[in-house]
Amino acid sequence: MDVRLLAHTPNADSICAAAGRSCYSEKASADLLDMKDPEKALGKIVGMGHHSVVEHAVFTFSVDGVSRALTHQLVRHRIASYSQQSQRYVSLKDPTYVVPETVRADPASLELYEETMRKIWDAYGKLAEAVPAEDARYILPNGCTTNITITMNARELRHFFSLRCCERAQWEIRELADRMLALCTEVSPVIFRDAGPPCMRGPCPEGKLSCGRPRKPNKLK
Ligand SMILES: Cc1cc2nc3c(=O)[nH]c(=O)nc-3n(C[C@H](O)[C@H](O)[C@H](O)COP(=O)(O)OP(=O)(O)OC[C@H]3O[C@@H](n4cnc5c(N)ncnc54)[C@H](O)[C@@H]3O)c2cc1C
Repeated sequence: MDVRLLAHTPNADSICAAAGRSCYSEKASADLLDMKDPEKALGKIVGMGHHSVVEHAVFTFSVDGVSRALTHQLVRHRIASYSQQSQRYVSLKDPTYVVPETVRADPASLELYEETMRKIWDAYGKLAEAVPAEDARYILPNGCTTNITITMNARELRHFFSLRCCERAQWEIRELADRMLALCTEVSPVIFRDAGPPCMRGPCPEGKLSCGRPRKPNKLK
């Protein structure tokens, strides 16, 4: 998969920290931007459950080469904006699909998988000549690759990372979430310092379904 951060709120850490501190100050956020310790200010406010302050930071990603199975899970996250490649207007002439590691590791399964994909695309090609692409696409599989543009604010991203960086999430969306988190942490280390699965911040909420391998908290930069 290819995951790139296309755009983000500049100085997001400072802007969110200033916005948070402005709630308790005589000064406006414009006069609080150069505060010495945004980490302390933001950590305290977010720690108190005042998560709305990180909604001022917005991030846009380009994601390519992921499966439709993944994007179906992704778009369940509603506080976001998405633009996805259309299977109505884009005809998928060449077979392009994700192969799960478990399938790749087993030669018999891999052969069956690839043979089925060849048959599907062969049928899709014939159908697309007879009927509109939007109808031919009904036989395409969940593994079919797609591209999608995602915009989320930092509050929704933190929630998304909490659910999807967790071992309970499926491997493909977990890889996407891990890559997005790494990109966010590079540009906003304060906002995303403790972002990730809940086990980084406290006990695992998954009960019997817990993987039993708590992730280590991020080291402070
Ligand atoms: C491991 C895992 C397994 C899953 N398995 C299934 C499954 O088998 N079947 C299935 O259908 N789904 C499944 N899901 C999807 C899951 O149920 C959620 O739809 C998805 O994770 C989006 O999360 P969300 O609703 O918390 O958050 P978002 O849509 O990202 O929203 C963020 C937050 O905003 C608030 N919010 C958003 N919309 C509303 C609203 N309408 N009303 C009130 N508050 C709102 C909530 O506080 C919510 O947590 C699974 C998810 C995970 C992580």
